[in-house]
Amino acid sequence: MGGLIELRCRCGEVRGTLRDLSPHTVNRVTCYCDDCQAFAHQLGRADLLNAKGGSDIVQVAPATLSFTQGQHRIVGLRLKPNGLYRWYANCCNTPVGNTLTPSIPFVGLLVPAFDKPQLDDAVGAPSGAIFGKYAVGEPPLASKGINLLLLLRALGRLLGWRFKGQSWPHPFFSRETGAPLYAVTVLSAEQREALRVFCGPQPSAPSAS
Ligand SMILES: [Zn+2]
Ligand SMILES: [Zn+2]
Repeated sequence: MGGLIELRCRCGEVRGTLRDLSPHTVNRVTCYCDDCQAFAHQLGRADLLNAKGGSDIVQVAPATLSFTQGQHRIVGLRLKPNGLYRWYANCCNTPVGNTLTPSIPFVGLLVPAFDKPQLDDAVGAPSGAIFGKYAVGEPPLASKGINLLLLLRALGRLLGWRFKGQSWPHPFFSRETGAPLYAVTVLSAEQREALRVFCGPQPSAPSAS
């Protein structure tokens, strides 16, 4: 049930599929947090952000995402030692999924990795925005912090995915060992700090990219 859509990095080397897509099986939100902004700037991909620094993200169950080609190009980045795992294709610096450890079964995918009209058809428009206080310039409406309804919705999805057995297989972690399948780099505190000038709420330097 639900739609199937192809994921591809910008250059086409890394490809995958996302299945079971519908407005009732995934969450789509625009995240304005400074970490998402910092990640895009670290990759030199400010083009992934909207004019206010927001990331258009679809949250899906781990088992619904699988890679079909170019897996050797996948690497992970953490902005701090316990931060999210932010996976990307290092051929062209395209994000291919944000995750926590597999005990919290979700993958947050940036919409630019998909054909947007196809994705819009499958899951509809974003249901809201979060962390608007970090937006570049005027915060978007009604999005300053954690939106409780969106949070409950996200938790509901997580429970549903777990109930349906969609925690495994996980596209980025080994089921046997729980370890990441791909190499992960952690930014130093200095490297993380250096990205703040590019991000909201008040960027003080033009983007590096
Ligand atoms: Zn690529
Ligand atoms: Zn974020």
